[in-house]
Amino acid sequence: MDYSDDPEVAEFRAGLRAWLRDHLDEHRDATGYESAESVERTLRWHRALAVAGYVGLSLPAAYGGHGLPDLYEAVLNDELATAGAPPPPPIGHIAHAVADFAGEDLKTRVLPGLLGCTEVWCQGFSEPGAGSDLASLTTTAAPDGDRFVVDGQKIWTSGAMWSRWCLLLARTERDEPRHRGLSMLVVDMESPGVDRREIVLASGSREFAEVFFDGVEVPAANLVGERGQGWRIAMHMLSYERGPADMGWVGRLGRVLAAARDDVRSGRLPADEPLRRRLAAASVDLRVLQWHVARSLADRDPGGSAGSVDKLLTTRIEQNLHHVVGDLAGTSFVLGDPAPYGDYLWSRAQSIYGGTQQIQRQIVAQRVLGLPRG
Ligand SMILES: Cc1cc2nc3c(=O)[nH]c(=O)nc-3n(C[C@H](O)[C@H](O)[C@H](O)COP(=O)(O)OP(=O)(O)OC[C@H]3O[C@@H](n4cnc5c(N)ncnc54)[C@H](O)[C@@H]3O)c2cc1C
Repeated sequence: MDYSDDPEVAEFRAGLRAWLRDHLDEHRDATGYESAESVERTLRWHRALAVAGYVGLSLPAAYGGHGLPDLYEAVLNDELATAGAPPPPPIGHIAHAVADFAGEDLKTRVLPGLLGCTEVWCQGFSEPGAGSDLASLTTTAAPDGDRFVVDGQKIWTSGAMWSRWCLLLARTERDEPRHRGLSMLVVDMESPGVDRREIVLASGSREFAEVFFDGVEVPAANLVGERGQGWRIAMHMLSYERGPADMGWVGRLGRVLAAARDDVRSGRLPADEPLRRRLAAASVDLRVLQWHVARSLADRDPGGSAGSVDKLLTTRIEQNLHHVVGDLAGTSFVLGDPAPYGDYLWSRAQSIYGGTQQIQRQIVAQRVLGLPRG
């Protein structure tokens, strides 16, 4: 397989590099969600990327995207990471769910704001009693004429505090069991009855919120797909969240690895033979991951189980690399520059969001390997 860029991809890459040379410096601090200011800086970076034409690369041009193959999303992530730029907006999975399932009217109304980064979206799936067992969720959206009335609670909703829209998974069919009773709705977060409560993490991050819905009216026209199709849409969406094109990790991990290698080669960090071997193994793992991502992009299976394999592989390699970096740095890992330690902590979250490590293994066991349940 040839992993080099074809001429169009090479031209795109060169244009992106030139744009980053001119614009990145004013946005380097656009990371984190610790304060209203850092959120605003991050959103400004997202808007700058959108205006320059780098958001929604693989989404349809008719709704504000660019109609390019998935590979371009990976090139974008790769170049941003290599340049040390902040990540792009994490919206690919939401945008694909809306683009692939919503009706024409809804797509035309909401996708341009999402892809133009003028309106922020969040994903309302998890509940206090329904995380891994998502199909047991209890938030209801009761059909009532030309609207739904939503009651319930979501938790760990990333970006909910500053979101205009929420892609909400809720129960619309009272008599249907579990998965079959769920539907997907686009909810205006400024509607009466929506109450957001910030969750501040020990790290200081204010990314998460609990969201309470108390008699919130949602127009029937905001239903994505059909009633009862929510589970299918959610799985489609998660396959993008878990999949290779939306994970900017490979390039970022390459930078972490290169820095660690430099520290060892220059003698800045002493490393004995076993530690050097672990670093070498992490380097081989990363190369394998790069090739795996390239192959997955050429052979995409939206809604399938391949995303679970990608997520397991990425998580293992990422967490292992950060462990090696931590062991190399010793106590300065925790007491020195906060960035590498922050990256390490974030790598721990990788095995939870988008479905935990154990759940991904179950999916692979049952749907890929065909092993019996239980
Ligand atoms: C960084 C981050 C961002 C997130 N953003 C969002 C968001 O924007 N929107 C949203 O809706 N949610 C979000 N979440 C929530 C996330 O989807 C859930 O945390 C996740 O699905 C796990 O659910 P839970 O926390 O309820 O854990 P639980 O489901 O209670 O799981 C606890 C532990 O038990 C294990 N376990 C559970 N069931 C089984 C089983 N059947 N077999 C084996 N082991 C099992 C799990 O693997 C886990 O280790 C986010 C989470 C993180 C960490």
